[in-house]
Parts: sequence; C-alpha cells; structure tokens
Amino acid sequence: MILDGKKVRDEILSDLRLKIATKNLNITLAILLVGDDEASKIYIKNKEKYCKSVGINVLKYVFNETATEEDVIEVINDLNDSDITGIILQSPVPEGIDFDKCSNLIKPEKDVDGFTKDNIYNLYLGKKTILPCTVKGIIKLLEYYKIPISGSNVVIVGRGNIVGHPLSLALENMDATVTLAHSKTKNLAQITKNADILISATGVKHLITKDMVKYGSTVIDVGVTRVDGKIYGDVDFENIKDIAQFITPNPGGVGPMTVAMIIDNLVEMEERKNG
Ligand code: NAP
Repeated sequence: MILDGKKVRDEILSDLRLKIATKNLNITLAILLVGDDEASKIYIKNKEKYCKSVGINVLKYVFNETATEEDVIEVINDLNDSDITGIILQSPVPEGIDFDKCSNLIKPEKDVDGFTKDNIYNLYLGKKTILPCTVKGIIKLLEYYKIPISGSNVVIVGRGNIVGHPLSLALENMDATVTLAHSKTKNLAQITKNADILISATGVKHLITKDMVKYGSTVIDVGVTRVDGKIYGDVDFENIKDIAQFITPNPGGVGPMTVAMIIDNLVEMEERKNG
C-alpha cells in the first residue's frame, strides 16, 4: 500500500483551516531569507502558498548577500519581542553568518523548525517540545495509516541533524526500538532486513535495494537527490513496492508532510501562546 503524503497533507490542512477559522486564530509566520539561494526561494514560495491557503499570514524579511550577522540578529530579536507566532530562518545563509548562532536566538516557543537548543534538549529528555517538521510529518504519516510504532524495530539510515538523529529520539520516546545506521555501519543490509519500519534519510540515490527489505515491512523514503532535474529517493521503489506492505512514493510521500507540519506547528504554537 502506498503511503500517500499528498492526500494526508490535504486532509490535515483542511482540518487546520477549519480550526483556524472556528477558533479565530490570528497566526503570523515570519520567514528570514539571507542571500540569493534559488532553492530557498522555491521552498519559501511553497511555505507561503500553504500558509496562505489556511489563513496564516506570512511576513518575509529578505536580506541581500552583503547583510551582516548583526542585521539578522536585530530582526530576530525584534520578532522575538513581537506578537508574531513563529519564525523561520531559511537555511543556507551566506558565509560570514553563523546559522546555528542566529537560529538559536529564536525563542523556543517561536521556533517553527524545532531546532533550537531548548527544543532539541526537550526532545532528548522525552519532554513535550516542538518537533522538527520532517520528523513530525513521518510520525503523522505512520499514525494516519495505523502503523504501530511502540515495540516496533525501527531502522533509520542516516544520522543527520535535520532528520535521522532527531527522528531516532522521537521514535525512541514513542517506545520503538531504534537502530541508527550511517555511512560507517557494517553489514547494513543485515540490519535493515530486521526492520519493521525502515526509514532512509541519506540523499544517496537508490541506496535501499530489495535485498535489504523485510517482507511485509514499512519503508519510508526521506532522501532527495536531483540528477539532471529529476528527483530520486534513497529507495528503489519499483523493486521494493511488492515486498513492503507500506511504502512512501518519492516525491509525494514525506515532502508534502513536512510542509503540512510547518502549519501544524504554527497552530500548536499559537494555541499554546493563548493558553
Ligand atoms: P545529512 O546531514 O547530509 O546526513 C546524511 C546521512 O546519510 C549521514 O548520517 C551519512 O552518514 C548518511 N549516509 C551517507 N551515505 C551513506 C551510505 N552509503 N550508507 C549509509 N548512510 C549513509 O542529510 P540530512 O539533512 O539529514 O538529509 C538527508 C536526506 O533527506 C537528504 O537527501 C535531504 O535532501 C532529505 N530531506 C528531505 C526532506 C523532505 O521533506 N522530504 C526534509 C529534509 C531532508 P555519516 O553520518 O556517517 O556521514
């Protein structure tokens, strides 16, 4: 069965649109873009489109290449003290600006991406936190299709700070038994074959082949590799779709869920702000 991220995204957004309207939530997202990165512009346009579609205001702060770290910090500080719901500092930023330093200045309760030290520390402690959007999107997708997490053997390939590492903490907090594999892992196929849920987040085209997948398992493909304008995932979908019981397409699986979780986090943050 295909885990249809677009369908689930649309259902989630339609529920959130209704909630925002009926509870009269006044939500504003501030997005800071520094420099001229083309991919970032596309990502921001996409975030803006979905925010507007559910009634969330978006304020964009666009800095040119020559902006200084102080310029960025000044705006973050002003936004922290304002009534705005959430702030995103779009990555990457030009050389000379320390992304981690700047993004860590965002107040944890306004940190839509869930990457500030406080939010990650809460995740580490298993306390309530704002989850990184891709991590939350994967969990919501599993929950939507009623795929059990508690007690399952989960293998995550890729230990990046955006997906693999925080995802391992989040799933551990949900009582999964998690193995985190990476480029130095020996006998990767032997480990992945043991997975009830196999999640690959490496950006290595078709790293996961059919001999690495357990029959009847769930396979989630997070990776994105662009070759000649075409997008490839980490998973050899065509040869695995008949072995796995559940599998995400790529594109069309995790990506749409990530965008939906930006909105989900914003609604959660505005509701918490209002007590
Ligand atoms: P990252 O920080 O570069 O991490 C990549 C991880 O993959 C590393 O842990 C690396 O291992 C591991 N790896 C590389 N080659 C491997 C191999 N041959 N075998 C096993 N592991 C290998 O990347 P990221 O930021 O976490 O993102 C991962 C992928 O997800 C990227 O393709 C990114 O574009 C995609 N992504 C998608 C979404 C979405 O919404 N769909 C969102 C975020 C990211 P080492 O640690 O040993 O180097």
